[in-house]
Amino acid sequence: MSMKMAENMLNRRGVSVSAIADIVYRLQRKYHPFLTMKQCEESVRAVLGKREVQYTLFTGIALDELAEQKLLPEPLQSIMEKDEPLYGVDETLALGVTSIYGMVGLTSFGYLDKEKIGVIETLNDKADGIHVFLDDLVAGIAAAASSRIAHNNPQATFYTTDND
Ligand code: MG
Repeated sequence: MSMKMAENMLNRRGVSVSAIADIVYRLQRKYHPFLTMKQCEESVRAVLGKREVQYTLFTGIALDELAEQKLLPEPLQSIMEKDEPLYGVDETLALGVTSIYGMVGLTSFGYLDKEKIGVIETLNDKADGIHVFLDDLVAGIAAAASSRIAHNNPQATFYTTDND
């Protein structure tokens, strides 16, 4: 079990670390003018290095893949195929990832759930498979990586300007 395994699994499902880092960058750049994509990627990898995140990813991605192979029992198979809006278990699972660096991640997660930026939007179009869990997991990872940056840069507010 390793960070690399989680990264490979994401890659297989069409999500790169840099695509998640891009979301982190968009969430945090206005608070950290000197933030780099490299720092965002490092933060995403730190999140992927946590065992509970890896376990959550394995679980959610397995359900997405089983649904694609039509191997889930009913009524779950139909719920997953429709991406039934009231299902909500996908968001519940991703919340465990969102809050690993504190509750500040919840705000970003809520924002991403609504705005679906970057690769989250691509996954949500579901043209190339079932990503009921993956879109929320990616939002959860981005939110956690984002709050990790916020916690590591407590001086960031000094850089905030009035026209942000
Ligand atoms: Mg979902």
